[in-house]
Amino acid sequence: MPGFEIFGKEEKEQVLEVLESGVLFRYEFAAQRKGVWKVLEFEKAFAAYTGAGFAQAVTSGTAALKVALAALGVGAGDEVITQGFTFVATWEAILDCGATPVFTEVDLTLNMDPNDLVKKITPKTKAIIAVHMLGAQARIVEIKAIADQHNIPVIEDTAQAAGGKLHGRHLGSFGACGTFSFDAVKTMTTGEGGMCITSDENLWRRMSEYQDHGHDHVPNPGGRGGEGRSFVGFNYRMMEIQGAIGLAQLAKLNGIVAAQQENKRFFQEAVSGLPGVSFREILDPKGDSATFLTFMLPDKESTTAVNQVLREQDAGAIRWSENSWHYYPGWEHLLAGKTPCHGGWPFSAHGKRRIIYDPQALPASAAIMERTLTYQVPILLPEGQKTKFVAALKKAAQI
Ligand SMILES: *Cc1c(COP(=O)(O)O)cnc(C)c1O
Repeated sequence: MPGFEIFGKEEKEQVLEVLESGVLFRYEFAAQRKGVWKVLEFEKAFAAYTGAGFAQAVTSGTAALKVALAALGVGAGDEVITQGFTFVATWEAILDCGATPVFTEVDLTLNMDPNDLVKKITPKTKAIIAVHMLGAQARIVEIKAIADQHNIPVIEDTAQAAGGKLHGRHLGSFGACGTFSFDAVKTMTTGEGGMCITSDENLWRRMSEYQDHGHDHVPNPGGRGGEGRSFVGFNYRMMEIQGAIGLAQLAKLNGIVAAQQENKRFFQEAVSGLPGVSFREILDPKGDSATFLTFMLPDKESTTAVNQVLREQDAGAIRWSENSWHYYPGWEHLLAGKTPCHGGWPFSAHGKRRIIYDPQALPASAAIMERTLTYQVPILLPEGQKTKFVAALKKAAQI
């Protein structure tokens, strides 16, 4: 990752077709567009690729989560459970619906711990968002089974795991809805963009309407202005240029995953020399999208010492416990309930604080995260970079 590493003539040709048609909007202009419907074609291709049946393109991975939650009926007063290790977008979308994010521990998969999920379900739980963080599988089969017992829909935040699978089935296709991001640094990218997939035609229809102000998209003699609406919506529409780039990138996705799997093996071998190292649990290595290599050292002190040497060699790893965008104790703006809204919404309503977090609430995750390090796996890995990496790891192994 990311997909821009291999931008080429395919993306350029796709974009030019859109510019030559002169139509940037995904709907209408049938006569002018000369048969070019890039977003629609991208949706069909993505639905076929993932095997989900239906796909709805939107403006971002954050929008995809919002659209999925809204279409599932999540609103004020509801609780939505997700994990304490994810990107802020996952809980921003929950807050944006007026609902309360509830966080679970992660286990050695670095994804939702199903045992903790069971403890956090209440009568107010209206959805569960399992995240396939860092390109690899959450325990989605167990999570889905628990959710089914309580009749709660599962959304899979697959923003970081496009092209990933579990036992042959695409990630994002297990729950009621899977959401994807094509932002500038994701495995396949359209600059900004997202997708919701589902096998439920009714849910797809609700998402399609919600992301376009409620338009029902039923052909009628009045055109777009005469379309019906059954509920209020918003504008999260993808534009044609994004759809065009998406088509070119999707065609490369299997090749990207194969290249990353090979490069990840190289990284893993080099890291294996560190004393006491262990690796993140990967439920199905064949289906790993291999965007990251994540490993653990015996304790916090050894992790700090090793990463210090790696940084000195210009080969420092990401330490999520120091990275405030992806891990619960670092989300100080969430924990403090900071909002631009005067009334304090969504943290407060009618002058009373309604959402309160304890920074120490996830001790099991903290014990894992403080000794966890991650490397991003590139699609292209030149020989010179490999030699430098091996030398840095050898040096770190000696401390
Ligand atoms: C990137 C990301 C998102 C948000 O996607 P955007 O397209 O950047 O809005 C959501 N969830 C996770 C886990 C992500 O990594």
